[in-house]
Amino acid sequence: MNQDIEKILLSEEDIAGKVRELGETLAAEYKDKNPLVICVLKGAVIFMADLIRHMSIPCEMDFMAVSSYGSGTESSGMVKILKDLDTSVENRHVLVVEDIMDSGLTLSRLVELLRHREAASVKVVTLLNKPERRKVDISPDYKGYDVPDEFVVGYGLDYAEHYRNLPYIGVLKPEVYTK
Ligand code: 5GP
Ligand code: MG
Ligand code: MG
Repeated sequence: MNQDIEKILLSEEDIAGKVRELGETLAAEYKDKNPLVICVLKGAVIFMADLIRHMSIPCEMDFMAVSSYGSGTESSGMVKILKDLDTSVENRHVLVVEDIMDSGLTLSRLVELLRHREAASVKVVTLLNKPERRKVDISPDYKGYDVPDEFVVGYGLDYAEHYRNLPYIGVLKPEVYTK
């Protein structure tokens, strides 16, 4: 285990089983819909890569990078598009893939934007969900796990751009934040 990790919350095996299950559910749901699967960079990239390999249906992928900006460290609800889609979502069935839903502000803005662009449908799949932290009335259409209000890293999730490559999801030791 990485020396900065205090405990493992979800092992590589846990995640693999859950992602397979989600992929199979989504494949059944989106059969014959040629969905546009959108990865929210960068955190969702590993989840997305694993997920679509369990969706054995025709689908397309695209990428978006957004940042919620404001004065503090908390999500402000203003979403700035850092990288927009290459594909038009008009009349497409869109599936947004996220790493973690926290306050929900980022995804609620993103969903609003995609609806405004006249997608045929917009749904969200998130690997992790922190329901306790929600600030807006949004819940994922599909989710892997509810997690407690702890800062997690690994499997795409970072702290200061590190730890995305850990194959499991874990909680950082407190001294990592304070050093
Ligand atoms: P929100 O739902 O608050 O708008 O923002 C969600 C985003 O905040 C996630 O996509 C992720 O980038 C970041 N985030 C929220 N909670 C965590 C966490 O526990 N660990 C990490 N690494 N990022 C988090
Ligand atoms: Mg994210
Ligand atoms: Mg991050």
